[in-house]
Amino acid sequence: MDNNTDDLIISNAPCLIQIPTRDAVLGEGMQIRRALPSRQKRTIGAWCFLDHVGPATLKQPEDFYVGPHPHIGLQTFTWMIQGQTSHIDSLGYHKTIRPGEINLMTAGHGISHVEKSADDFTPDVHIAQLWIALPDSHRDMPAKFQHYDQLPIVQQNNCTITVLAGEFAGHTSAVEVYTPLIGLDIYAESDTTLTLPLNTAFEHGFLVLQGHIDYNGEALDTGALLYIGKDRNSFELQLKAGTRLLLIGGEPFKEDIILWWNFVARTTEEVQQAAKDWLAGDRFGVIEGHNHRRLNMPTLPEHLKASR
Ligand code: MN
Repeated sequence: MDNNTDDLIISNAPCLIQIPTRDAVLGEGMQIRRALPSRQKRTIGAWCFLDHVGPATLKQPEDFYVGPHPHIGLQTFTWMIQGQTSHIDSLGYHKTIRPGEINLMTAGHGISHVEKSADDFTPDVHIAQLWIALPDSHRDMPAKFQHYDQLPIVQQNNCTITVLAGEFAGHTSAVEVYTPLIGLDIYAESDTTLTLPLNTAFEHGFLVLQGHIDYNGEALDTGALLYIGKDRNSFELQLKAGTRLLLIGGEPFKEDIILWWNFVARTTEEVQQAAKDWLAGDRFGVIEGHNHRRLNMPTLPEHLKASR
C-alpha cells in the first residue's frame, strides 16, 4: 500500500509501505522472523539485517545455540528485551547480556563468535538482533567488542522510549556507530497516541515486537516492517497497552554492498577471500571449547564465484 493522507505531516511525498517479514532459522533450529534484508528493501540507513527472536520459551539451554561463525564489514547489534544470553568471541570476550542491555561487536577486518543461552539459564527469550554495515572508512578496522548496560530512557505520552542508537529528544546513546543512525525501543505502558518527530534526512522502519499498533487508521501487521521514506518530519502511532515497537532509521546508505552469509563486502573477491579464510581456519581466530561446532558455510552462489 502507499498512503499519503492529510492527517500525517508530510513535507515531501514520502512512501509508506508494509514489507512482509519472513520466517528463518537461527543457529541450531530456533525459529525467528527476519525483516531485513528483504527483496523490497536491502538496507534502512546502514541497518542491513534485522532478526526478531521470540518472545519464546526455551525448553533447554541447547535450544539457543549459534556456533562459531565469522563476520566482516559490519557491526552486530544485540538488544536484549527478555532473557539472557552469552556472547563469546575470538578476541577473548565472554559476556552475558541481560534485559535493557546492548552488545555491539564491530567485525571490521574479521572476528568470529558464539551466541548461546547464558550459563545461568532463563527459558524466556526476546531479542532484536541487527547488523549495521560499516562505511568504507571503517569496514577494514580491527575488530572490537563493546557492552552497554546503561542506555538513555525517555518518558513520553505513557511510553518508555529507550534510545538504542543515535539521538532522541536530546538524549544520545553511547553505542558507537559510524554513520548517522537512530534506533529506539518504544514500550506503551497504557493505550496511547504517540507522535514521533523524525529526522527528514533519514529513512525509517518500524517493527512491532509485541502487541498492536495502528497508524493512519490502519493496523501494522506483526509480520511486517513498515518502511517510511525520507522527508517526513513526524509520524503518529496509536499503541495498545503492552505494545513494544522497534524504530530504526538512518541516512540512506550510499555504498553498494554485497551481503552474503555473515559477510558484508563490496566485491566478489572479498567475499571469496573471507570464505576461503574461514574454511582454512585463518583470520577469524578460534573459540576454545566450541570449535567442533563451527557453523557450516553454505556454498558460494554462482554470481559470487565470478569476479566483479
Ligand atoms: Mn553473528
